[in-house]
Amino acid sequence: MKTYEIFWTGGFDSTFRIVQMSRYPIRIQPVYCTGIASDMRKSEFYELNAIKRISALLRHKPATKAEILPLKIVSKSKSGYDVTHSDFVYDILPYDHEVAVAFRRIYISMMKPRRDQLATGRGVLNAVNLDLYIDSQYQWLAAYANSRKEPVEVGITARYVNKFMEAVGGSDAIEEIDNGYFKQYVLNKEKCGSADGYKIFGNFAFSFYNAPLKPELVEEYKKMDCEDVMDLTWFCYDPIDGEPCGQCWTCVHTYRDGITNRFSPVALERYFRREKELKKQDMIARGGV
Ligand SMILES: [Zn+2]
Repeated sequence: MKTYEIFWTGGFDSTFRIVQMSRYPIRIQPVYCTGIASDMRKSEFYELNAIKRISALLRHKPATKAEILPLKIVSKSKSGYDVTHSDFVYDILPYDHEVAVAFRRIYISMMKPRRDQLATGRGVLNAVNLDLYIDSQYQWLAAYANSRKEPVEVGITARYVNKFMEAVGGSDAIEEIDNGYFKQYVLNKEKCGSADGYKIFGNFAFSFYNAPLKPELVEEYKKMDCEDVMDLTWFCYDPIDGEPCGQCWTCVHTYRDGITNRFSPVALERYFRREKELKKQDMIARGGV
């Protein structure tokens, strides 16, 4: 059985792909990169918990044919983790200077033309909300992927497709590979329009570069009889009292994407307040008010 490595956050999109892959006689090695940003993600505990519960649930589904290996947690150091935990294995994230330099160049080139937008309202928070640049997580994922022999699968969600295409210089370099079970897409180095883009995205495999939107994914989860799995996914970046906050950018996007049943009444209040704030900032940015 061949082993496929795939980045898994416990979120809606990467979990969907894990469910898809679980239907084939392969070995799945899920990978979780952590402890890399200066702010330790508050959501990590919830994501790991979601992954643990989803793995257990999937392993017992009759339709599951894959062997789902314990999650590999990759971080700069093993300190702070219970490395004897049977649900997880651990690895050290390598430092890749070339990836860091390439990422910085792409990041700056994407930010420059959008400086005016960033100077308004809540600046960076808005930029994240509007998806103006590629997420810093890709440089850490790339450092890991480039240290592996085989490509590591990563999801590019529908919202990120344009940013991704901009980073790799267009869609010409994208090639389909079919292993008989499912399709993956990889970048062809010779055809890739950006050396920096290849440095970051060159050893990833993509499940779909025209990623389906959330409502379509909900339908697919249902078709695969995996609504229970879907309900265990975690998406909030900044949970409050153990629940999705309703106001962080992932919560906002989740609600906007039509997944509205995962919020408590108080989280919904926060969501509508946040949308009002964003609308106001947008009007200020456009020169109104
Ligand atoms: Zn949230």
